[in-house]
Amino acid sequence: MIIVGGGQSGLAAARAVLAAGLRPVVLEAGAEPVGSWPDYYDNLTLFSPARFSALPDLAFDGGDPQRYPTRDEVVAYLRRYASSIDAEIRTGVRVAAVRQRPGSGYLVRTDGGDEVAAAGVIAASGSFGNPHLPALPGLGDYTGEVRHVAQYRRPDPYADKRVIVVGAGNSAVQVAHELAPIARVTLATRAPIQFVPQRIRGRDLHHWLDATGADRLPRAVLTRLIRHAAVLDTGVYRDAIARGLLNRRDMVTAFTPEGVRWPDGTSEPVDAVIFATGYRPDLGYLAALGALTADGMPAHVGGISTTHPALAYLGLEFQRSFSSNTLRGVGRDATHVATALAERLPGPRRRPGLRPRRPVRR
Ligand SMILES: Cc1cc2nc3c(=O)[nH]c(=O)nc-3n(C[C@H](O)[C@H](O)[C@H](O)COP(=O)(O)OP(=O)(O)OC[C@H]3O[C@@H](n4cnc5c(N)ncnc54)[C@H](O)[C@@H]3O)c2cc1C
Repeated sequence: MIIVGGGQSGLAAARAVLAAGLRPVVLEAGAEPVGSWPDYYDNLTLFSPARFSALPDLAFDGGDPQRYPTRDEVVAYLRRYASSIDAEIRTGVRVAAVRQRPGSGYLVRTDGGDEVAAAGVIAASGSFGNPHLPALPGLGDYTGEVRHVAQYRRPDPYADKRVIVVGAGNSAVQVAHELAPIARVTLATRAPIQFVPQRIRGRDLHHWLDATGADRLPRAVLTRLIRHAAVLDTGVYRDAIARGLLNRRDMVTAFTPEGVRWPDGTSEPVDAVIFATGYRPDLGYLAALGALTADGMPAHVGGISTTHPALAYLGLEFQRSFSSNTLRGVGRDATHVATALAERLPGPRRRPGLRPRRPVRR
């Protein structure tokens, strides 16, 4: 079983594939199997406490389980996780294309030109490689700096600059908030920001998501309950906006060559715009196979491809539940897709958890 991507999703897949009695081979483009975490911005701390930031079978230990780990702690955790799994992980290998193998299975071509045969493929390549920029009037003519938050690392290059951060999710608010003391920053959002309290009745929200089962609700139910992106907040962000320390305005209506135009008709020059406007699955290597929809999205139900029987996905947003694209939730989905693929693949398999038996001497 080839697993494309060695982040938390790929590692959770490898563990689940082993448990299902199959042999995983993880192909990871980067130098280490730690996913995109090293490329997230420097001051990132998780919104999920350590206790709710672990993959199956390995606790996120090393301190208070209620603390919010840093980006670098996640990198260290994933390193440990990778070395705890008895799976072959090939780093520095980018998958360029997957095609059907005559008969059954797939041929996975790497960008080095090698081809690897696979009975099945799990696409766990995340979305960080495919940042989404909205099409906005005039943006193509704007001459200032345009970045997606995927390229943002730290505030100091923006000191004293006029900056617009576009977006209403956690990353937008966190980045705008850390820029506010040193830059002239405005957070531009289509609607007022929806805040969700990080702590409720003395406990982190993740405790309640787990205890109430909300974490495992399917997308169809959840999207009826939550209609907008929400920002987890201990009170600090809401307070910063209320006190005018962080400026929020309704979304710009257009870009001009020098800056932006606001809904009240005024225009102003702007040095830089940072779009924290989300990501799309990074699955270009499956296009030629015919596994994607016209807009590049995976055709699947619960992570199982609806176009190819031995192809599955992991780590998609809302793949099966609210927590699918999180450290705490991806393990559940991994078990689901690995079990489904194992049932579909022909031929004998090592039985889960059992070593091959030695021949009996007579
Ligand atoms: C800013 C930010 C903060 C977040 N905070 C939290 C949090 O607090 N708690 C939480 O649980 N979740 C959080 N998440 C969500 C989620 O846990 C992370 O996005 C996580 O990195 C997703 O893991 P992944 O393995 O699915 O994808 P990634 O981490 O993106 O890993 C995908 C891997 O696939 C590799 N790859 C891509 N294409 C190919 C290819 N063609 N061939 C081979 N390899 C390939 C990449 O190199 C990468 O290593 C956060 C996300 C972001 C962006």
